[in-house]
Amino acid sequence: MNDCLFCKIIRAEIPSEKVYEDDATYAFLDIHPVNHGHLLVVPKTHVKDIYDIPRKDFSRLMETVHELAPIVKAALNADGINIGMNNEGAAGQLVFHAHIHIIPRFSDDGHRHWHGNPYQDGEITKVGDALRKAFEK
Ligand code: 5GP
Ligand code: ZN
Repeated sequence: MNDCLFCKIIRAEIPSEKVYEDDATYAFLDIHPVNHGHLLVVPKTHVKDIYDIPRKDFSRLMETVHELAPIVKAALNADGINIGMNNEGAAGQLVFHAHIHIIPRFSDDGHRHWHGNPYQDGEITKVGDALRKAFEK
């Protein structure tokens, strides 16, 4: 994709703070980090999101995430790690080249977890029923 920001980063047409690369994946520092060391891990082949990426390529991407996450934690002396993926604008996706966020967390970083959206009476069963039905093959 010629005009994709992350494709341009992978091709080194736009500079990035690359920290890891292999045949299929590329990892670099997010320019607006939640915490210092916040990484983006991307497949080298352009795909938009979770719906677009073939399962084997997603598995390959997650292999890199699985390899890097504990190294990030140890190298930055983090207390925890968030792994995230935003898909579509409603979920906060801003760059439409699939990517996984690896976010080092610190006990005193002041970030809060998401506000909850609690179930009212009986709602949890209805949602469970809808999803069990959707997962039926
Ligand atoms: P999304 O919201 O799509 O999941 O995340 C996109 C991420 O890309 C954001 O966290 C944003 O800070 C990061 N980002 C946007 N433009 C650039 C850039 O030019 N360079 C780097 N390194 N990160 C970027
Ligand atoms: Zn791309």
